[in-house]
Amino acid sequence: MTRSNPVLPRLLPVLLGALLISGTAQAGEAASAPAHVSPAKAAAKAAAQAAAQKEAAKPEAAPAKEAPAAAAAAPARVSDEELRQRLEARIAAVRAAQTEPKPAARKPAHVRKVAAPAAALGATAVAAHAAAGHGAGHAAPHWSYGGDGGPAEWGKLQSEFSLCGSGKRQSPIDIRGGVKVDLEPIRFDYRPTGFNVIDNGHTVQANLGSGNTIEVGGRRYELVQFHFHRPSEERINGRQFEMVAHLVHKDPEGRLAVVAVLMDQGKQHPMVQLVWNSLPLEKKEETMSPVPIDMNLMLPEDRRYYTYMGSLTTPPCSEGVLWLVLKQPAQLSAEQLAVFAKLYPMNARPIQQASGRMIKESN
Ligand SMILES: [Zn+2]
Repeated sequence: MTRSNPVLPRLLPVLLGALLISGTAQAGEAASAPAHVSPAKAAAKAAAQAAAQKEAAKPEAAPAKEAPAAAAAAPARVSDEELRQRLEARIAAVRAAQTEPKPAARKPAHVRKVAAPAAALGATAVAAHAAAGHGAGHAAPHWSYGGDGGPAEWGKLQSEFSLCGSGKRQSPIDIRGGVKVDLEPIRFDYRPTGFNVIDNGHTVQANLGSGNTIEVGGRRYELVQFHFHRPSEERINGRQFEMVAHLVHKDPEGRLAVVAVLMDQGKQHPMVQLVWNSLPLEKKEETMSPVPIDMNLMLPEDRRYYTYMGSLTTPPCSEGVLWLVLKQPAQLSAEQLAVFAKLYPMNARPIQQASGRMIKESN
C-alpha cells in the first residue's frame, strides 16, 4: 500500500518554475558546489559558467533583432517532450529524496559544503586543529575558555587532548629573550583567493581555496585557514595585543607553520572587513564570500618576526608547530574589534611555560 504523497502536488509548480529558469540558474549552482569543490574552484566554475552563458547568449541575441519579443519570451529552446521528460526525472528524484532523513534533505545547499576545506586537509594535525580544535567536531567533548571545560581541564577531557595538560612545548608563550639573528625572510606567495567564513563555536575562521604558500626553513607550506583570538594569545615581553590572526599553513608532510599577525586598534583593516562581511548568521554554518581575499593585505609592511617551536593553542594541543610571529602589529578599527568582541569577548589560551625553548628574532 502506498499512501498518497501530499507534498508532491505542491512541489510541481516549483519544479516547473525551476525548469523554466534552469538555463539562467547555472551560475548560482556554484554556490551549492559539492563538498570536494574548493571555494576557489567553485568561484572559478561560476565565473566560467557565467562567461560561457554570456558567450552563448550572443549568437541568440543577433537574430533577436528581427524578433525581439519572441527571443525574450523563449529563453530556452526546449521541446515540450523534453520538458516533460525532465519534469518526470525531477519528480522521481524528489520521491527518492523523500525516503532519506528529512534534516539532510532539507539542509540548505550552502550548509553541505561546510566540511570542504577542512576535509581537504587530511588526517593530520591540521585536521585535528580544524575539526576537534577550531572546527566543529562532532564527537569532540565540550571545551571552552572559561568555567566548565576551561583550559586547565583540556588535558583531561579526552585522551587525545592529553598534551594540553602534559606537553612541554606548548603555545602560546610570552616571547622574550629572543636571540637576535639575520633570520631568513619568510617568502610569502599569496594571491587573491576565494574563501568561506565559519563561526565554529570557538572563533571566526576563514577557510581558503588553494594557491597561497610560504617558504621558510627550506620547506613550502600552504595556507589552509586563518582565524582570530581576542585578546592576542602570544605576548611580546609581557605585552598582550587587542587581537591576533593565526594564519595556519601546512606542508605536504602535514607539518604546520602558523604565522601570527598581532593586531592593535587603529585604522580599519580592509581584509578583516571582508571576513566580517561574510559572517554567517548561524554558528557552524559556512558562508562563501562573494569577493576573493588578498592575504598580502592581511600582513603588516614589516615582515620581521619571532620564531620558536610550539603547539596548537586549542585541543588537541598537538606539538611540532613552527610559530612565526610577525613583530609589527596590523591595525583594525574600534568598530571591527567590537564586532569580534560581541561574538568572542575572550578566546585566548593562557600563557604556557617557555621552559627554556630557543626563541629567535629578526634583527
Ligand atoms: Zn589560533
